[in-house]
Amino acid sequence: MDLRALLREIPDVPKPGILFFDITPLLGDGVAFRKAIDTFAERFADKGATKVVCAEARGFIFGAALAYKLGIGFVPVRKPGKLPWKTASVTYDLEYGTDTLCMHEDALLHGEKVLVIDDVLATGGTLTGMLQLMKNFEAEIVGIGILVELCFLNGRDKLNGLPLDSIIQIS
Ligand code: IMP
Repeated sequence: MDLRALLREIPDVPKPGILFFDITPLLGDGVAFRKAIDTFAERFADKGATKVVCAEARGFIFGAALAYKLGIGFVPVRKPGKLPWKTASVTYDLEYGTDTLCMHEDALLHGEKVLVIDDVLATGGTLTGMLQLMKNFEAEIVGIGILVELCFLNGRDKLNGLPLDSIIQIS
């Protein structure tokens, strides 16, 4: 099944000059969505992970389904003010400005093995922020799974060699 064919390319979204890859046609196709989750599961089933960590909002779609499939826990990473308990947070640089991500401070055990899942890797800013956040927990990142990697933005280079597995690569 050609998952790439189910991405809709929308020019000038969210601003002029940006080509946005819309994953909703893939999500709307039950066979394709299942294929994406099964592909993540095949790649990560033997990593010994006990948690999937994902940033809101689109990361949740894939991370929650994968956690269910693997029978492991799910940890939400959210924007400030959304989580009800005590949080650890990180503020990271974006192309223009900064952003902050938060996670419950008791969400991971020290040394716990985790998978980090997201829908799209663009510049790598979000993922770098997630990895910085997880340093607070001394978690072991045993896999990073991305549905769509925009290779031409070189986000992967920001990961200092951590293993990143993408299902669709756009060059
Ligand atoms: P980055 O921080 O520049 O790597 O951007 C990644 C985040 O922005 C991901 O969490 C995506 O949800 C979102 N994103 C960036 N570009 C796209 C796109 O073309 N399609 C869908 N989401 C995108």
